Amino acid sequence: MSAAKNLNVLVVEDDDFQRLALVQMMLALGANEVLEAEDGEQALALIRNSARVNLILCDLDMPGMDGIEFMRHLGQARSNAAVIINSAKGQSLMDSVVKMARGYGVRFLGVIAKPTSQAKIASLLTNYEPPKLPANHFPVAEIEFSLDEILSGIVNKQIFPFFQPKIDFETNLIIGAEALARWDHPVHGLIYPKVFIKSLESNNEIDGLTMLMLEKSAIACQQWRKQGMDLTVAVNISLVSLADVRLADYVTNLVRGAGLDPQYMVLEITESAVMANMNSVLENVMRLRMRGFGLSIDDYGTGFSSLQRLGQIPFTELKIDQSFVSGCSTNPSVQTILESSIDMAHRLNLKCVAEGVESQADWDFLKSLHCDVAQGYFIANPMDEALFLSYLATNYSAQSASCIAKNTPEAADR
Ligand code: C2E
Ligand code: CA
Ligand code: CA
Repeated sequence: MSAAKNLNVLVVEDDDFQRLALVQMMLALGANEVLEAEDGEQALALIRNSARVNLILCDLDMPGMDGIEFMRHLGQARSNAAVIINSAKGQSLMDSVVKMARGYGVRFLGVIAKPTSQAKIASLLTNYEPPKLPANHFPVAEIEFSLDEILSGIVNKQIFPFFQPKIDFETNLIIGAEALARWDHPVHGLIYPKVFIKSLESNNEIDGLTMLMLEKSAIACQQWRKQGMDLTVAVNISLVSLADVRLADYVTNLVRGAGLDPQYMVLEITESAVMANMNSVLENVMRLRMRGFGLSIDDYGTGFSSLQRLGQIPFTELKIDQSFVSGCSTNPSVQTILESSIDMAHRLNLKCVAEGVESQADWDFLKSLHCDVAQGYFIANPMDEALFLSYLATNYSAQSASCIAKNTPEAADR
């Protein structure tokens, strides 16, 4: 049998006997190479060091980092390896894990109920589609797309928002979500914004993406609100887009057309390398604010030179860049920056949001500085709309509980 021909496989299984059996099966199926890990942590280390894993067979229940947490990290690591879950757990747990893994953007091939057999693996492998490029972890950073390819992704509506929750430090309530663009590429799988935003911006072609994100995010937020959840949605807007004085009208029409009142949408304004016409920017943001949109200074602390000159802009929120936030509790040099940024935000009457909150220590430190809102992997990863809805179903209704951040499925296993 050669169902696994040319595949570089990683077997993640804590039981020595079962792991050995799986390795033998994969070799018998023609695998090129089979790596082994006893838990998620070892598996991640192997993936980071070996650029070539393209199939992962993973158990769920393992000491140390279990398969559930491993799926989350795999999503974060932006791996394009196909995953087969191999477990003795019941169907409903398996179904939830599959839903979660897909929601994080993991390429999911299927589930095998233990006892595993060579035939079961072979039958799932018939669905395996090799990526067109050589197998490679963290591949999205290497792939380059032409402007035309990116634009056709937009025209074909292959780009859509993932949502990452924002939590109020004081009340622990979910107050909204940031929409982050993901490209569901028919060949390469899930592609991250780093790969396509810059090219769109520098070719002055970002507007199509912005409109797509605004529309899909507004529709999603309107649906959450219809279900009785008092949430806002934040969408990223490049400074370049604001150079066109007509933008405010386009944005307003689109968002209202999707049925959302602008007061429930925050526009996070990111500075791009391209210099924009500041008079038009000012006119647009004034008009947007007048119509009720929230306005956030994104990535505060990086770049920012031209935004800084816009003292007149009626911002409502200051978002501190993750480079100052992740690991802040142990880094004295960023602590001063955080303290003064939060203080400045409050003096200017701006809500202060910390992005990139990755640990309990980050959370505690920022809370002690009276930062208002947290966003980051500590709370939850960005998720596709369906997974975000089930996250809300579990966590929004539980808002009276003492601490949302400590009750999320993602937080439970960190
Ligand atoms: P951003 O606006 O600063 O968004 C936050 C980024 O940090 C996101 O990356 C998010 O996935 C990631 N992140 C979230 N929590 C954590 C954490 O705890 N630790 C760390 N290290 N990272 C975390 P992503 O989704 O890859 O987006 C990258 C950037 O691309 C965004 O940075 C934003 O500037 C831009 N972008 C994304 N979507 C859009 C869009 O629709 N339009 C425009 N113009 N830019 C977008
Ligand atoms: Ca942002
Ligand atoms: Ca940032």
